Amino acid sequence: MECIFCKIIAGEIPSYKVYEDEGYFGFLDINPINKGHVLVIPKKHYRWVWDDESIGKYMEACQKIVSAQKKAFDTDWVVSTIIGEEVEHAHIWLIPRYNNDGHGGAIDFSNRKKFSEDELKEAAELIINNL
Ligand SMILES: [Zn+2]
Repeated sequence: MECIFCKIIAGEIPSYKVYEDEGYFGFLDINPINKGHVLVIPKKHYRWVWDDESIGKYMEACQKIVSAQKKAFDTDWVVSTIIGEEVEHAHIWLIPRYNNDGHGGAIDFSNRKKFSEDELKEAAELIINNL
């Protein structure tokens, strides 16, 4: 199994997990665009989000996480992107935005932020506590 996301789901690669249900898994991006940037992936390996026959459940999982992010980070501004080219396993990005977060009116995808392990752990716990 070569897929890095399948390895994360299997626990072979550690991650900052924020969400898990029967079909979906959410974890923090470790090179985040902003604090609280979450990746949501189906547990079953699909190449593209659109290949998932349970896509409605996928969206419901994302909706739960976004509502937790809004409370956790006190923002109503959470953007979501479906691009899918970084890793060949379906993924959706859920990215909280903040005033003066260095991205301006639209996300600058080259502007990645660095957080310590403690900061990542704290962000994950904040989301979990607001689910
Ligand atoms: Zn995979």
